[in-house]
Amino acid sequence: MSTSKQESNESTTQESLRLTNFLRDIMEEDLRAKKFGDAVIQTRFPPEPNGYLHIGHAKAICIDFGLADEFGGKTNLRFDDTNPEKEEQEYVDSIMKDVRWLGFEWERLCYASDYFDQLYEWALKLIRDGKAYVDDLSAEEIREHRGTLTEPGRNSPYRERPVEENLDLFQRMAKGEFPDGSRVLRAKIDMASPNVNMRDPVMYRILHASHHRTGDKWCIYPMYDYAHGQSDSLEQVTHSMCTLEFADHQPLYRWYIEQLGIFPSQQIEFDRLNLTYTLLSKRKLLQLVQEKRVNGWDDPRMPTISGIRRRGFTPEAIRNFCASIGASRTNGSTDIEMLEHFQREDLNRRVPRAMAVLRPLKVVIDNYPEGKEELVEVANNPEDKSAGVRQVPFSREIYIEQDDFREVPPPKYYRLSPGKEVRLRNAYFITATRVVKDAAGSVVEVHCTYDPASRGGNSPDGRKVKSTIHWVSAARAVEAEVRLYDKLFSKADPGEFEEGESYLSNLNPNSLEVIANAKLEPSLAEAKAGDRYQFERVGYFCVDPDSRPGRLVFNRTLPLKDTWAKIEKKAGA
Ligand code: ATP
Ligand code: MG
Repeated sequence: MSTSKQESNESTTQESLRLTNFLRDIMEEDLRAKKFGDAVIQTRFPPEPNGYLHIGHAKAICIDFGLADEFGGKTNLRFDDTNPEKEEQEYVDSIMKDVRWLGFEWERLCYASDYFDQLYEWALKLIRDGKAYVDDLSAEEIREHRGTLTEPGRNSPYRERPVEENLDLFQRMAKGEFPDGSRVLRAKIDMASPNVNMRDPVMYRILHASHHRTGDKWCIYPMYDYAHGQSDSLEQVTHSMCTLEFADHQPLYRWYIEQLGIFPSQQIEFDRLNLTYTLLSKRKLLQLVQEKRVNGWDDPRMPTISGIRRRGFTPEAIRNFCASIGASRTNGSTDIEMLEHFQREDLNRRVPRAMAVLRPLKVVIDNYPEGKEELVEVANNPEDKSAGVRQVPFSREIYIEQDDFREVPPPKYYRLSPGKEVRLRNAYFITATRVVKDAAGSVVEVHCTYDPASRGGNSPDGRKVKSTIHWVSAARAVEAEVRLYDKLFSKADPGEFEEGESYLSNLNPNSLEVIANAKLEPSLAEAKAGDRYQFERVGYFCVDPDSRPGRLVFNRTLPLKDTWAKIEKKAGA
């Protein structure tokens, strides 16, 4: 543990932080030009309910909801539930909880499945207009016919089916007359298009699967590309923001809307959030959960919203972080330290301080009266006078951190060592006199004397000490389990691995350390799940829901040291 170091106080980040970004510029311009008439900005956040939301989704949420809010617009939460095999109610519930926790409320709650009837009608229209056909090729054959980035595709032999036959086959597909995978409905666009997405994309596939909302009503399901733009259009979404990997799909998005002559929602792509030491892919996060490499979606090491919430992160810090990274048109990577910096800054301002000793070493103050207890006054938050003060009991036997004592101090070690005097935070000066060791030769107890005149932490003779350490009264200590988290992956890019290995080999084997019996000051006895504290000199902590009466469990949100502030300073910012 390093000596006390307060956080940087620079206030670059406030709730109102609003960096310009190109999305806001587009909205401003569209409103000015009345591109959508007098309509207000309408956006949507369209998660697929096939996993829990992660910090990347938080960025999309802050963009979709945050920008609409700025312009007095509205945002729908729309579940993109077109893939019944992977979707579950549990995910739907968690997504709603997480969006609200981040501080946003949707205008309407929608589901792509609400539009299955309309999408089906529109498919029939495209068939009648000669713009869609039923294809009997297998998935494999369709892939072969698609061509490559450098070679055009080839037409399917079923491409010129008469309209009547297409109508008949498609309706029978919907009635369940054909097995899974035997036929698809495809848009009839251009197999030679330089954009592979325009080479007669599949609109519907046959899938005899129960849907979490429509049950067994459908055995054909629309593809994402066919459902998404039309859903936007039905909700009169003006600005449909999505991540850059959909840029090549935009011509198709427009094509469907144009062919159907419906409300012209506009798709705009922005950069995906990539964070160092972090994987943001629901598929991989699901694998970590299923293989029990973490303890569930809300494991505090996970980059999920539920994970970082449990770890003690705050919605305010996440929103400030998202505002600060903004949006751009090229993908990049963001240092995880930056997210942590915003979190520390928020916690530093708001959370009460407390004294907790993670790895206790007993200190006996020989000249302090046995059985005596006095209360010392401690500020709850030096950053916030209104947080008031509290009384902390002091007594003859206390605990300090093992790291705060060295029998043989290395150079520049200013904390407690034999003959050396230090300040016990808000209490007294003490000087170490002798140690007690166990059979193995480890120090198990340090004996000290104190200076009664230094009460409150200052000596009337103006004597200086070089170090202030925290402590907890041994008689009154509350025991707690403390879970210390480190990065889940040990590589900055967890997706980089040796041949024959996978990202799993980059898992950090030391990402969780459990301390069974930390000693906390007694005021923490009543702490409730979700309560946050700064343990002085140690870090930010949050009470875990695993806590039981008489058995508190704390998660370390972050250690105190702000490496991002250092990175910024180094960069000369
Ligand atoms: P994943 O790749 O993790 O499975 P996804 O894009 O398939 O994510 P969706 O549920 O489809 O997940 O995402 C909903 C919205 O969130 C989409 O608009 C998507 O572009 C956006 N989104 C997903 N991941 C990120 C990210 N890392 N950064 C920014 N936006 C993201
Ligand atoms: Mg997706």
